[in-house]
Amino acid sequence: MVVAEGTALGALVERAEALYHDVAFEAVREWKEANPGRKAVGCMPVWFPRELIHAAGMLPVSVMGGGDDVEIIKGDAYYQSYICHLPRSTIEMALNGSLDGLDAMIFPSICDVIRNLSGMWQIIFPDRPAWYFDMPQSFDDIGREFFGRELGLLRDEFCALTGATFDDDALRASIVLYNENRRLVERLYERRRERPWLYPTQELYVMLRAGDQLPVEKHNELLEEYLTLAGDSGRHPIDNARVVVVGSFCEQPPLNLIRTIERAGCYIVDDDFLLGNRLVASDVPTEGDPVRGIVDSFIDDAREASFLFKEHEKGSELLRRIEVANAEGVLFCAPSFCDPALLDQPMLVKAVESKGISYTCFKYAENTGQFQVIREQAGTFADSIKLWGVA
Ligand code: SF4
Repeated sequence: MVVAEGTALGALVERAEALYHDVAFEAVREWKEANPGRKAVGCMPVWFPRELIHAAGMLPVSVMGGGDDVEIIKGDAYYQSYICHLPRSTIEMALNGSLDGLDAMIFPSICDVIRNLSGMWQIIFPDRPAWYFDMPQSFDDIGREFFGRELGLLRDEFCALTGATFDDDALRASIVLYNENRRLVERLYERRRERPWLYPTQELYVMLRAGDQLPVEKHNELLEEYLTLAGDSGRHPIDNARVVVVGSFCEQPPLNLIRTIERAGCYIVDDDFLLGNRLVASDVPTEGDPVRGIVDSFIDDAREASFLFKEHEKGSELLRRIEVANAEGVLFCAPSFCDPALLDQPMLVKAVESKGISYTCFKYAENTGQFQVIREQAGTFADSIKLWGVA
């Protein structure tokens, strides 16, 4: 037990964890009922500029699969066995009505699985707007022009959905709120790097997941509160190994897997969970054309990710993160059958090996229920680092 029950921090973590388990999207339904007529737009991983949805008066909702809370009954029938789990649980939730509160869906172009899922979605829900969002893969002026056009088209689609006209000032106001959100998330990651015993990842993670459904204004308040309460929690350091977790940017590991890693003697001091929150680290500018501001931030500042083809040596960003986090080892922890994560892994491993940094690899599915093997593997890894400095 990390947090004492009955404390303000305990209550906050409990609230965030309830949102994490809310796979029926009750929080979205409540948001819509509070002001009938408002619309919610679902976004599949990994990233979409949510400020564009917010500025149209709609609620951006991150759909991250069903984790281990959704039993797959029909979802498996839609897919072959050798792909990741996320699309199965998404289809299951679509068919069982959990996603009925979403008036539209966005499928970013991160891999073939998401592309196929967007097609299936359109077959199942021919009357619900759904967009395949082509992210640029040229980080130059051609990509800039292409991305500006894509976002312009989506902006017009959002206006058609709400019946409103687009307002640059509304987008600037939304960007300010999301800039604040990005800053708070960065601050949380920075504080965890400095004192991971005060900000355990099993808590940090549910705080981030709360932003899947909460309006950004409420999520910002929650993050502020957590930063204060966790910082004052008085928890003491223990002799854990400092590790970076890599490969979990799309289909998410079950919360119990994160707990298992921590209980096995690891401080997670950096990770790529829910990468959309940190894909663009800098503030989006609000001067001038705000859509152009989003475009420029992405083209100029998007960090290295498996689903983006940036011209630099794979692994350089990982080595930088290991150094900044003062990490002692790397856990390559990717979803089974995740092509983007697993095709990058050999290059990342090579980079890590070239510096003599310890690492170990395992795979998971979002509904993995057995953790004994991972506990032993992570525990042995942590012990080896603490005893001999290498694994
Ligand atoms: S987990 Fe990997 S393969 Fe599956 S949808 Fe996400 S990026 Fe694609």
